Amino acid sequence: MAKRTWQRRSSGVWLISLGLSLLLMLCSTAGWTGAPPAAAGAEPELPEIDLTRVTYQRLRAPVEWHFDREPSAFSEIQLAPFQPLQDRHVSRGVDDGTYWLRVRLVNPGETDRSWLIRHETSYLDHLTVYYRDQDSDWQQLHLSDREPFGARPLDTPRLAWSHATPAGSHTDLYLRLNQEQPDVLTLNVELWDGALYLRNLARNMLLSGFYYGMLLLVLLVTLSGALLLRQRLWLWYSLLVVFTALTWGAVQGLTFQYLWPQFPTMHNQGFHLLYIGLTLTALQFSKGFLRTAERLPRVHRVISLMQIGLLAGVGLRLLGFYLPVLIISFTGFGLLALLLPALGFHAWRNGLRYARWYAIAWSIYSVSLVASLVAATTNLLPWGMTPLVYSQAAGLLEALLLLAALAESLLAWDRERRAALRAAQHDALTGLGNRRRLSTAFKELMQRRTRDQGEAWFIALIDLDEFKQINDQFGHAAGDRILQHFARLLRQHTRPSDVCIRHGGEEFAILFQAPTLPAARSVIERIRTEFARHPTHFEGTLIPHTFSAGVTRILPDAAQPLSTVLQRADQALYAAKAAGRNRVKLADQVLEEVLSPA
Ligand code: GH3
Ligand code: MG
Ligand code: MG
Repeated sequence: MAKRTWQRRSSGVWLISLGLSLLLMLCSTAGWTGAPPAAAGAEPELPEIDLTRVTYQRLRAPVEWHFDREPSAFSEIQLAPFQPLQDRHVSRGVDDGTYWLRVRLVNPGETDRSWLIRHETSYLDHLTVYYRDQDSDWQQLHLSDREPFGARPLDTPRLAWSHATPAGSHTDLYLRLNQEQPDVLTLNVELWDGALYLRNLARNMLLSGFYYGMLLLVLLVTLSGALLLRQRLWLWYSLLVVFTALTWGAVQGLTFQYLWPQFPTMHNQGFHLLYIGLTLTALQFSKGFLRTAERLPRVHRVISLMQIGLLAGVGLRLLGFYLPVLIISFTGFGLLALLLPALGFHAWRNGLRYARWYAIAWSIYSVSLVASLVAATTNLLPWGMTPLVYSQAAGLLEALLLLAALAESLLAWDRERRAALRAAQHDALTGLGNRRRLSTAFKELMQRRTRDQGEAWFIALIDLDEFKQINDQFGHAAGDRILQHFARLLRQHTRPSDVCIRHGGEEFAILFQAPTLPAARSVIERIRTEFARHPTHFEGTLIPHTFSAGVTRILPDAAQPLSTVLQRADQALYAAKAAGRNRVKLADQVLEEVLSPA
């Protein structure tokens, strides 16, 4: 036993010196090449990890790694030059090379120790485990996401394998990792204490349930919104939520595990398509939400071009192309992260108030997304998949913030709609209602009246006297000032429930309530005397003015159209003008005078 250890150590020293001399010889060439086996049967010494100290860790030095330029057999690999695995070695970018890790897991304890290894990503294509318990032969196990999900030894969304090392013994481990086609590759392999892993799994499932449950809730809300409000924008938003859920579900491996376990092709080819789908719908939603077509037509065109490019990516993948689609999907993701926060802040700054939630949401999302992309494809950030968890959380936060943004935009639209409605029923000069307002009010009144046993309703038609002359004498601006003055007077002398409108030109109408016909008349009389008593101040001159009015009662329960009522009032008004102006006439009085001229 002691002798064997010594032998192994001495051949290790020998190997190292051979490696060093080889390195010196080859230092001008590309670097390490697979050194030929030194001596048949010689075995390298494996770096050791004490299993009794393991809770959860990522495999790092003393664990060793080796890049296998030309895929070699396991027996050759054992003699290949391995080096300690440091943080900076872990992210391999987009790569389809073959990598090896090796370690000896030692259990000096008194009880057996169960442990588990798991690759950090759900999309690693192949993970081959070579293992040997103390005094046993090498065994081999192949894990792959290119096979149906059910082929896995463990029901885990990422490739994983568990084993138990007996007390006072050890297990030697070689892991072979590679992507079948170029894809993001990381050497992050986790080593878990078996019991801790199970506890963690249960907690993760709970978190996932919460996460996807929330997204589902947001989806239901926005889908109902889309259907009930017939808002296409909400439909795009619903689709964005679906793609968010599917993308993160795929990244976690859950879509493969639960949605299409029989279809590894869908799992492997689907990633880039989901990224593209997420980007496409995010852009489409943003176009509508930020109204780029009206507000930023040039940006709008650029976004549309991006979308065409993304759609081409989908087409290319369906035609069987791989690498261009990977590039398109990653570029799209990256551009999205840069573009949308900028657009959001721009819109916010330019008065689109509800864009603030959008801007905040996309900023959070973008920072974590960019961090994830940088960590996954370069060695600049050694965080592995961690930022992806943040982008995932940011994805949910974003869904909620965008929901707030949608609600706020809906309120803004409602405000605009009300303003437009108001503008359509009001006169700009005097702020009074217009004819449309009168006819709406009249219709409402007629519907109410059968139930309404209150005071009687009247209409007064008022026309300012000799207004043409006033205009001619003092100017049009003075005329306008008088119209505004008169409008103020009308508001002062009527109840809030009465409806005062500008009927056109210098003609006004009041739809108002009074207990009796004489009372109605005195309401208008009061306004008339006020108007006559208070001339309008205009640029230092006092302009005297009067009006004539015709008042008529709106007969109860008779189905009379507004035009008939107005016609009666107009006859009374005409009579007032004919009788010398600056007076109020009652339609019924006109009727009497016509019937019995005395
Ligand atoms: P009468 O006593 O018979 O009603 O005489 P009148 O001059 O008031 O009637 P007429 O219909 O001949 O003229 C109405 C004038 O009102 C003509 C028009 O220039 C003026 N007018 C109409 N709308 C406006 C407005 O918005 N601003 C001003 N300043 N004048 C207006
Ligand atoms: Mg894969
Ligand atoms: Mg007039």
